[in-house]
Amino acid sequence: MSSSKILTTSFNYQGVYPCPVCRVGKISHMPLMEAMSCDFCQQIFTVNVEQQLLKMPSRQPPLIWHWNGFNWTEAQIEGVEFGWGYVIGAAAFVLLPTTLIGIVAYNFPPHPATPLSWLPYIWTILTLLSHLTIIIWLFIEIYQIPLMAYWRAIQQRFLGL
Ligand SMILES: [Zn+2]
Repeated sequence: MSSSKILTTSFNYQGVYPCPVCRVGKISHMPLMEAMSCDFCQQIFTVNVEQQLLKMPSRQPPLIWHWNGFNWTEAQIEGVEFGWGYVIGAAAFVLLPTTLIGIVAYNFPPHPATPLSWLPYIWTILTLLSHLTIIIWLFIEIYQIPLMAYWRAIQQRFLGL
């Protein structure tokens, strides 16, 4: 389609692009610097026009994004490839303890008349939630998702604050 071709743009200093961190603001060239900044979350990026990539140097190791002509690719940590090993590891960390406790709770149910007989089931759910929280927290830590920026954006957009 020719219409999709028009939207495809290469990444350069003159353009204005969506911010890959907060996805709310726009990033544009900072005068006299080889950098771009976001008008919303104030994040500063260094630019590599030849490789069409953006780097966020404010954290170590830096996060990088590639421009695919339409949008930014998923953030990558420089020098780190998040392969399936990490995904499987994270899934196992959440599912294995939950399954174990669930199996025990299912196979050795306490007598319904005993006090706290519901505890193993609640414990299973708590195990799932707590391990899931750890994974989500790690994800937020690694990618430094600006939750406050999101929150401000949501407030501005929906509440008109
Ligand atoms: Zn931003």
